[in-house]
Amino acid sequence: MHSCVLGGGVIGVTTAYQLLMAGHEVTLIDAQDNVAQMTSLGNGAQLSYSYVAPLADASIWSKWPQYLFSPKSPLTFKPQLDVSQWSWLAQFLSASNTKRARKTSLQLLTLAQLSQAQILTLMQQEQLNFQHKVSGKLVMLSDQASVDSAATQIAFQAQYGCEQSILNMDACLRLEPALTHAQHRWLAGVYTPGEAVGDCAEFCQSLMEAMLQSTRFQFLSNSQVIGVEKKANRLSAVKLRQINGTQKFVADNFIIALGVESVTLARHLGFKIPIYPLKGYSITVPVTGATSDAAPHISITDLSQKIVYARLGDQLRIAGRVEIVGNDLSIEPKTIAELVVATQDLFPNSGDLSDVSFLSPWAGMRPATPTGVPIIGQSPVRNVYLNVGHGALGWTLACGSAALLRNLICGESPAIDATPFSFK
Ligand SMILES: Cc1cc2nc3c(=O)[nH]c(=O)nc-3n(C[C@H](O)[C@H](O)[C@H](O)COP(=O)(O)OP(=O)(O)OC[C@H]3O[C@@H](n4cnc5c(N)ncnc54)[C@H](O)[C@@H]3O)c2cc1C
Repeated sequence: MHSCVLGGGVIGVTTAYQLLMAGHEVTLIDAQDNVAQMTSLGNGAQLSYSYVAPLADASIWSKWPQYLFSPKSPLTFKPQLDVSQWSWLAQFLSASNTKRARKTSLQLLTLAQLSQAQILTLMQQEQLNFQHKVSGKLVMLSDQASVDSAATQIAFQAQYGCEQSILNMDACLRLEPALTHAQHRWLAGVYTPGEAVGDCAEFCQSLMEAMLQSTRFQFLSNSQVIGVEKKANRLSAVKLRQINGTQKFVADNFIIALGVESVTLARHLGFKIPIYPLKGYSITVPVTGATSDAAPHISITDLSQKIVYARLGDQLRIAGRVEIVGNDLSIEPKTIAELVVATQDLFPNSGDLSDVSFLSPWAGMRPATPTGVPIIGQSPVRNVYLNVGHGALGWTLACGSAALLRNLICGESPAIDATPFSFK
């Protein structure tokens, strides 16, 4: 069986690995010269197995005016003459209620728990270097309403095996002394000891090196999928644009894992997938020597600003913002400056923040479905499978999603109920 995985982000790379382990001949195809060069490159680095509540939540209704009009809003909405933007937004708002958010949280928790187990297995099977650390996570809360809402979510998730607790500021400071400078900003923190961090791009590159040891694996880089050949509801070949021209590529199965670009290929194949790009940004601050303990060792989320801080060895990754602005990857200096200021406010001595060009400014597109639930499984085309729409949690959910898709493709008994993730 020859399987062709389209897209070498973290979702495609993990899918390729699972199919290789299942005995398939596997070709991984990507438009870039290496794996993980798009959304999987500079993300927030959080392996957020318990903190999976979706963006589509009832609280969006009361926060919407602040999100739209406050200059300090962590969300930007630029209305466009684009039906897909409005249609996605309508579905997102219709999913923004407590009942749907709870259902989504549960579905994502199940997939996240599978992912956590899978990444540990994978780390035992392969020699991978990606700065993985079970650092624990503190989500910092600045007002009583946020504390009350967190307490409700914790009680709900506790029924499903999540170990989380609310800590007062003294306890937060004992766990993470680097919070001292900005302690006045918060009332409490939610502590989740099992959360981890890791560099997603290093993980992908490391896993690819492991796969390249096999004669059944090949990576076609600089190969952009530009068209399809479909016969009798079956994809017979994809057309690739490569450095030396175009070629047709034939395989038995195709797996779409093209992140936000999956929408275009699905359209070529005659069906629609409800994914919209949610833009976000990051910077990476070198943290060295004397300043090392001024940067947090635990993963920190500043909930009111929706900014995450993850320690990756001698670097601090800072990521945030949600922008509904279309597929525009330009890096706004103003937004990068906001991330720099936020870091200076919280962890002023954590590193040299004076020259932005040393901070690897980055923007990426979260491939988001309206509910936040990814689509994993058979597509309407017979030999085409989907592993798409992981939104803000693709790094966290990748290993579980890949394992589940392998179960489905190989006719194995699924590790978890696959129904919530099926294409509808
Ligand atoms: C600011 C930010 C912070 C984030 N933080 C976190 C976090 O802390 N934890 C977490 O779990 N998740 C996080 N995410 C989400 C996570 O990064 C994504 O969900 C994940 O990277 C998506 O992976 P993917 O493989 O689906 O997409 P991508 O990584 O974008 O991969 C798609 C691949 O397809 C290729 N491609 C596209 N079109 C074509 C074509 N026509 N032909 C060939 N190849 C093509 C691209 O080159 C790319 O390599 C964050 C995202 C952002 C933007």
